[in-house]
Amino acid sequence: MAAHQEKKLAKERKHQNMQNDTKASQGQWGRAWEVDWFSLASILFLLIFAPLIVYYFIMSCAQYQCSLTDPLLDLLTGNKHLSDIWNRTPMLTYRAAGIYSLWVIFQVVLYVSIPDVCHKFLPGYVGGVQEGAVTPAGVVNKYEINGLQAWIITHVLWFANASCFHFFSPTILFDNWIPLLWCANILGYAVSTFAMIKGYFFPTNAKDCKFTGNFFYDYMMGIEFNPRIGKWFDFKLFFNGRPGIVAWTLINLSFAAKQQELYGEVTNSMILVNVLQGIYVLDFFWNEAWYLKTIDICHDHFGWYLGWGDCVWLPYLYTLQGLYLVYHPVQLCTAHAAVVLMVGLLGYYIFRMTNHQKDLFRRTNGNCRIWGKKPEYIECSYMSVDGTKYYSKLMTSGFWGWARHFNYTGDLMGSLAYCLACGFEHMLPYFYIIYMTILLTHRCIRDEHRCSSKYGKDWKHYTAAVPYRLLPGIF
Ligand code: NDP
Repeated sequence: MAAHQEKKLAKERKHQNMQNDTKASQGQWGRAWEVDWFSLASILFLLIFAPLIVYYFIMSCAQYQCSLTDPLLDLLTGNKHLSDIWNRTPMLTYRAAGIYSLWVIFQVVLYVSIPDVCHKFLPGYVGGVQEGAVTPAGVVNKYEINGLQAWIITHVLWFANASCFHFFSPTILFDNWIPLLWCANILGYAVSTFAMIKGYFFPTNAKDCKFTGNFFYDYMMGIEFNPRIGKWFDFKLFFNGRPGIVAWTLINLSFAAKQQELYGEVTNSMILVNVLQGIYVLDFFWNEAWYLKTIDICHDHFGWYLGWGDCVWLPYLYTLQGLYLVYHPVQLCTAHAAVVLMVGLLGYYIFRMTNHQKDLFRRTNGNCRIWGKKPEYIECSYMSVDGTKYYSKLMTSGFWGWARHFNYTGDLMGSLAYCLACGFEHMLPYFYIIYMTILLTHRCIRDEHRCSSKYGKDWKHYTAAVPYRLLPGIF
């Protein structure tokens, strides 16, 4: 009898422990299960104002030569009413809807139906079927990495059209810029709403869903971790890495074509923006397999933040420099252009090398050389929802010994270079560096909060070894 009771107690204790482990590990993965008032207020602010911000920027270029203050002054002084501005705004057109639908369908086809061949002939390129990181429920998803192929095919067709076929003008994106904005918004909202419904009714992996009980938070930050349709259509990888980012370089080319059409030449500032952002985009596709291990794919759930953000925010606000240069063609003096190029390339180098060092370190489990030496690191452990214990390492040498997010510092330098290419006449092109500073600082804090709850005391050892976040000695 006593033995039976002891057995029952042990079983209860085990169950209790498992529940505690589950709770603890959910915390360790840094998911916000309780939504504080500040997060809620920020979310409501973004849901309401982010689409208006995008509209404001694009409208101010179309109607006010990219002045950010003139529309406000016009409204405040009663010179214009909201309805005047709205009435001058192009509406959704059948042409834009057709272009946009074709674009998205084409990218879906490239994504799901053409397996990668680039990895077969490009030395050093990792493509084809690759595995993502372990999810909190312990799942390892497989992805078809064929973004570089999609980018190449799309751009070859673009150049073939521009130089031989002339089915459409290369200025097509600029010429339909606002009607296309409405299409992007429709898709952004549709996909976020669909993702929310899917999370409730037919999730891909129920154990990887996160319900905070707050409708707005769930809509914005997402319920499902890796929503999929079928085996291969992964929402996060597709929306993060296809329609918006493939379009980024085409949008810039369209802006350059518009400069050529309007002024008979393409300015050196436009070329710099095209080249520097082109390098960034190509880098993204060259390293798409690595991207599976970044925060967007590894830790963020799929909601409005990613769905709408990738459809609207990214293609419209990341390309503001090119748009600005159509309205203000800036020809930089050689010294200015050289500084922009150097800041951009140095930023890119830091960004790429820092990311590469972490990737190499993690791939080889520390059995590699960083700056000619064996890397230094801190051993750490964490648990998944099912209570399985995992081990990991945090590197404390190379760029990762300088600061905990030196990759963000490089990214910020690159972002600054795009803005500097536009001269100093207007604020609008500088929105990007302001936004990226806020985004990456917030991301840094968010990531550290997550890592701290994931690794516990090991994270404390790490922050003691590498005390600065972005700038050694300063922050
Ligand atoms: P990181 O690539 O810096 O990844 C952070 C993760 O790396 C942490 O969560 C942790 O994950 C692991 N990690 C942290 N410190 C160490 C260390 N010392 N050694 C080994 N692993 C470590 O962040 P992101 O995914 O945010 O960014 C990737 C790149 O994308 C960055 O260069 C960033 O600039 C860029 N980016 C660009 C954006 C844009 O809009 N242009 C937006 C966002 C990012 P784990 O849990 O595995 O330990």
